[in-house]
Amino acid sequence: MRFDYMHPADQLIMIMERIYKHGMTTTSGGNLSIMDDQGDIWITPSGIDKGSLTRQDIMQVKPDGTVIGIHTPSVELPFHAHIYKIRPDIKAVLHAHPPALVAFSLARKVPEVYLTPASANICGNIGIAGYEVPGSAALGDRIAEQFEAGHDIAMMWNHGVVIGSGSLFEAFKKFETLETLAKLQIDAKRLNGNIRVLTQQLLETSGSNHMPLLETFVPKSISSEEKAARREMVQLIKRAYSQKLFGATQGTFSQRLSDGSFIITPYRIDRAYIEPEDIVRIQNGRCEDGKTPSRSVLLHKTIYDLHKEINSLILAHPPYIMAFAITDAEFDSRTIPESYIMLRKAKKIPFGKSYSSILDIANTFSESCPMLIFENDSVMVSGTSLINAFDRLEVAEFSAHSIIAANGIGDVVPINDEEVKDIEVAFHLED
Ligand SMILES: [Zn+2]
Repeated sequence: MRFDYMHPADQLIMIMERIYKHGMTTTSGGNLSIMDDQGDIWITPSGIDKGSLTRQDIMQVKPDGTVIGIHTPSVELPFHAHIYKIRPDIKAVLHAHPPALVAFSLARKVPEVYLTPASANICGNIGIAGYEVPGSAALGDRIAEQFEAGHDIAMMWNHGVVIGSGSLFEAFKKFETLETLAKLQIDAKRLNGNIRVLTQQLLETSGSNHMPLLETFVPKSISSEEKAARREMVQLIKRAYSQKLFGATQGTFSQRLSDGSFIITPYRIDRAYIEPEDIVRIQNGRCEDGKTPSRSVLLHKTIYDLHKEINSLILAHPPYIMAFAITDAEFDSRTIPESYIMLRKAKKIPFGKSYSSILDIANTFSESCPMLIFENDSVMVSGTSLINAFDRLEVAEFSAHSIIAANGIGDVVPINDEEVKDIEVAFHLED
């Protein structure tokens, strides 16, 4: 989908709906704007239900201050306008009060962004705007100071967050990543583990930014099997996104086809709007011409080469499992029988190894180890089919959620060794 061809009012409705659906704003809270090439600001209205905005509700403000539309522009129009004036590179501003970021804003703390390569890349460094009355010129000044200093994100004490970017979709991506990151840190604290913060040097030397260059090929035909696989993958990606197992541009699915080639998700394309034609085919180590696969493509290929029994892989950053990935807390799947049967012995892999030691990682997968937690990075699950891998990811995330919640109730009691043996016998699990 080409967002730059969409009218600003339609972009605003689309993103507001997405923010509301994902529980990141209340009906009355939050406002978004876009500055178009003519200098007009398109902005959400004041006091209108954010859950049911239509194109007619969006307000247009001309450079001379003339207001066009059936409502009143958001009360926060002054700070939106202020940001556009001092930062010509910013074309969209997003302001909201999502729960986890507000928690940080109440504690007057900024989320740590150096927790994963993606969070460091997307969120960068964050400014702080002190408390002022909403809609006031003083609030506009506090926020503008942060953007003038070069920040694209400003935390607002006892209020929320403001994000500026070159497009509304980029602003949304930062917003979603930052809210997920804030939630992740809250859950990691509940786990009582020590949070591991990455250093700039570790990030630079890890190879996490490396984009593998593959030779390309032009497919002669697309089999019905491949078309069915693309369709199923797209359905599950959208499901993974709506269930918050995937982020807007994070999360990789791949699936082996019967001729030995495999299909994989593309790099960066928004998971909420992905279509079957966006999926990338990899054949004999070559990539479908004109497309860019997810950066973990070589890890996927190596695992398929080594394990004939694995037909699907998912690499993701689900928030509850990630709380284990960014702390030293061990993830023990012996919570309920279903979790142990699906997840067995999940192993943790030190940060960076998923980039530097692909063969070792591929060798670590086995029937008794179908899930790896890459420290400060992601989680990877294998499956005999796409739905099997997806189920495993869901079970992992539910289990992680339950363990974190249980910590607030009492000590977690795992299923004991004898009970595990009984499960292994009853369900024919190999060692
Ligand atoms: Zn506000």
